[in-house]
Amino acid sequence: MFRLKNTLTRTKEEFKPLEDNLVRMYACGPTVYDYGHIGNFRTFVAVDILRRYLKYLGYRVQHVMNITDVEDKIIRDMKAAGKSLREFTEFYTQEFLDDLDRLNIERPEVIPRATEHISEMSELVERLQEGGKTYASDGSVYFSISSFPQYGRLSGLKLEGNLAGARVDVDEYDKADARDFVLWKAPKDPDEPSWETEFGPGRPGWHLECSAMSMKYLGESFDIHCGGVDLIFPHHENEIAQSEAATGKTFVHTWFHVEFLQVEGERMSKSKGNFYTVRDLVDKGFSPDVIRYLLLSAPYNTQLNFTIDGLRGAASSLERLRNLRRRLAELAAAEGSDSSAIVAVKNAESGFAAGMDDDLNTSAALAAIFDMVRELNTALDEGKVLEDDRKAALEVFKKIDSVLGVLGPLEKPMLDPEIESLIEQRNMARRERKFARADEIRAELLARGIVLEDTPQGTKWRRK
Ligand code: AMP
Ligand code: ZN
Repeated sequence: MFRLKNTLTRTKEEFKPLEDNLVRMYACGPTVYDYGHIGNFRTFVAVDILRRYLKYLGYRVQHVMNITDVEDKIIRDMKAAGKSLREFTEFYTQEFLDDLDRLNIERPEVIPRATEHISEMSELVERLQEGGKTYASDGSVYFSISSFPQYGRLSGLKLEGNLAGARVDVDEYDKADARDFVLWKAPKDPDEPSWETEFGPGRPGWHLECSAMSMKYLGESFDIHCGGVDLIFPHHENEIAQSEAATGKTFVHTWFHVEFLQVEGERMSKSKGNFYTVRDLVDKGFSPDVIRYLLLSAPYNTQLNFTIDGLRGAASSLERLRNLRRRLAELAAAEGSDSSAIVAVKNAESGFAAGMDDDLNTSAALAAIFDMVRELNTALDEGKVLEDDRKAALEVFKKIDSVLGVLGPLEKPMLDPEIESLIEQRNMARRERKFARADEIRAELLARGIVLEDTPQGTKWRRK
């Protein structure tokens, strides 16, 4: 039974889609004013793990992730860069999508851009206006939170003590006081991006964008809404208020929030300057699958402290998984099955699912896989892995990697001439007394499952 923590109810709940076998989910996408950092990508990797695990369980998934391409910070930075809104945001959108590909994050089914959904947004404002949930001031339209008594349920904020009529114009605000928030912003500058509507010229507030786009593609009530924990308040609180005030229906069933990636005890963020982008780490010699492995290795609901040492650890864990898979792929095993080997494989599969079923506990899921790695490596050394075990273990690797997405395609087994050529190179290195190089070649072959034995008749090799 798959249980997922719901921020709204603060409990782990058995997950069931609202309709049939289809899961409708929305993730708040990036604000495209710069490159994403790996803190952002921790959230997107966690959402990808959720999406892939739902598919592993046999659900169909309709996943929408928006691109916020008009917002306060974008307007500030596009002006500084002397670019048009479209030119400025298109560059960072493409970079973001490329980073998703590098990190093997599956593309959501729909990736809507805010600026292409202005009419849906203005319709939502009109609906709220007709319901008496808004007021206008200086050409902008605000949502009146006193018209929505349930305001604060998601974040646990109390409405008492709220300053009646106090309001905010900015998209992001930290203060945990409830405020009337802006739905539609009148232009402050004549050169600000602006659209004509029934209620005057302007641009959408950030919160409005997500409500309009999620409801357009997923319906007025859908299953899961995702984002980092910083979005609980005010962003998601405001999304609930404006959506439910317009439709009278429950907006989202399960709220899924991902904890921060930290650096030395502080949240990784652009404003603190303590961030790495994917390209920064690739330049340091780490491959994107190692970055992905590190990001997914801690459960999404715990903070993860980023260090370069942590990345090195991720690289060696990933290597251990790949080594075993390669050994198995290259093994010429005898027919049949060994009872302890097959038990190790079955336990890995059930332990992985048990971990994931428990609110996507990836570290428990991985621990079950590493038990198998240990046991099968020993069994291989002892010649106790037979053909059925080998096939079953490779099948488990395939299944878990449909969720983890880190192993990549299986390398082709080494061919005999390749092995012999490497042995020849090693012999040459030894003759030239380049022993370090010779050892390196031996280690390389061993990592590919080839054992060398130096005998008086020359070097012999065998597959492990
Ligand atoms: P933004 O582009 O700033 O709107 O952020 C995109 C996503 O990344 C949002 O869901 C944020 O909550 C999330 N996010 C930002 N910083 C971090 C971090 N340090 N760790 C995890 N998620 C983050
Ligand atoms: Zn959003």
